[in-house]
Amino acid sequence: MNFEHSYDVIVAGAGVAGVAAALTCARAGLSTALVEKTVMTGGLATTGLVNHYLPLCDGHGHQVIHGIAEELLHLSIKYGPGTVPAAWAKPDGGEASAEPASRKQRYATPFSPASFTLALDEVLLEAGVTLWLDTLVCATVLEGRRLTGIEVENKSGRGFLGAHCTIDATGDADLAYRAGAPCVTGENWLSLWAIQTSLARARRVSDDPDAASLLEMVYVGGNANGHGHPEGHPTYDGTKGDEVTQFLLEGRRLLREHYAARYRSDEEANRHHLFPVTLPAMAQFRTTRRIAGLEIMSSDSPHSHVETSVAVVPDWRKPGPVWEVPYGALIPAGVAGLLAAGRCISADREAWEVTRVIPPAALTGEVAGIAATLAVEQRTTPERLSVSEVQLAVQAKHLPLHAADVVPHV
Ligand SMILES: Cc1cc2nc3c(=O)[nH]c(=O)nc-3n(C[C@H](O)[C@H](O)[C@H](O)COP(=O)(O)OP(=O)(O)OC[C@H]3O[C@@H](n4cnc5c(N)ncnc54)[C@H](O)[C@@H]3O)c2cc1C
Repeated sequence: MNFEHSYDVIVAGAGVAGVAAALTCARAGLSTALVEKTVMTGGLATTGLVNHYLPLCDGHGHQVIHGIAEELLHLSIKYGPGTVPAAWAKPDGGEASAEPASRKQRYATPFSPASFTLALDEVLLEAGVTLWLDTLVCATVLEGRRLTGIEVENKSGRGFLGAHCTIDATGDADLAYRAGAPCVTGENWLSLWAIQTSLARARRVSDDPDAASLLEMVYVGGNANGHGHPEGHPTYDGTKGDEVTQFLLEGRRLLREHYAARYRSDEEANRHHLFPVTLPAMAQFRTTRRIAGLEIMSSDSPHSHVETSVAVVPDWRKPGPVWEVPYGALIPAGVAGLLAAGRCISADREAWEVTRVIPPAALTGEVAGIAATLAVEQRTTPERLSVSEVQLAVQAKHLPLHAADVVPHV
């Protein structure tokens, strides 16, 4: 090995889930490393050019998600555009506005991905997290069933990072899979989101109060429901190297076709007037691989009471449903010392669709951080913790455990 370090907790993947997990552990006083293969913090929310922080509320005026996920929403607009709807604004981070939360205006905001990264870097460093950027996790190290560390590759060569507890926030369950835990793969349509600019748009928005109007998202290929996926084109699970390369190249081919068609159909548009300015620097897969955990968050269970729940999440797709996340959905089967967070937790079909977006990903990151902290403090592993103890620690952070805690009539 070219280098070796050890920590209380290692978090793999600096998407919103990994950031929330690392902040939680570092703020609890644990030595915490956050390892990220790209050069950016934020994952799909920044490097992947996703620019809308979906709702923290249920769409009927009840705030469902609190904690670091809410803190990150505000950080997403700290150095850039985006506004929290007045009904949800909390001056100085204190009490909610006196104005009742509107049913229609959800607690969400658009943001600039680059601005979000600036704020994430800052808050992680303030919390004392050790960042390893441009560092790929390439192997897991086990003693029996117990994960004791990871091997990484970066400019220094190959290194070993050891930890008492590790959190897989890679979005793709890379660590759990490599450690031999059972996993489930998803299905993705061919799609690409990019940011473009055009003279026509600049003229149209020149009097707008906010320069965000200058940025224009361009979408090609399938949407979240697959509408727009090219006919006859295969779908992707996103877990094989050659397939990921094909997804990226095919997405960019669609973008070339999109501009060629625009230039043909619009006399005003040519390469001088309209062109892409930023392409995503990570593959924009929604659901690739997730753990098959000790428990599965079921698709049939919006509004049902889950005894082992450690988190409550709203449904970004429609107002109303509120879902509970069982603790076992964060624990890979067959591996000790490892937790999952974000879009690779154990959630079935519709539940995966609900939990894969930014606010639930950040929330499960925080909960994984809470469980990792308990495991380190008790010199045990997350799967051996008692669920009621994890629930107490979650409640101590003022995070709701059950739907009834946030929606009175449930
Ligand atoms: C096209 C598209 C549109 C979307 N639109 C929205 C939207 O409008 N609003 C919304 O809220 N959500 C949206 N989402 C979903 C959302 O952005 C993500 O699902 C969410 O941000 C996931 O966060 P995460 O931290 O779980 O995973 P990710 O953001 O995927 O983060 C995982 C991180 O781990 C790193 N990593 C992976 N493997 C390794 C490794 N081996 N070693 C080191 N690092 C590794 C990655 O580089 C990445 O930074 C969208 C997703 C897509 C694809």
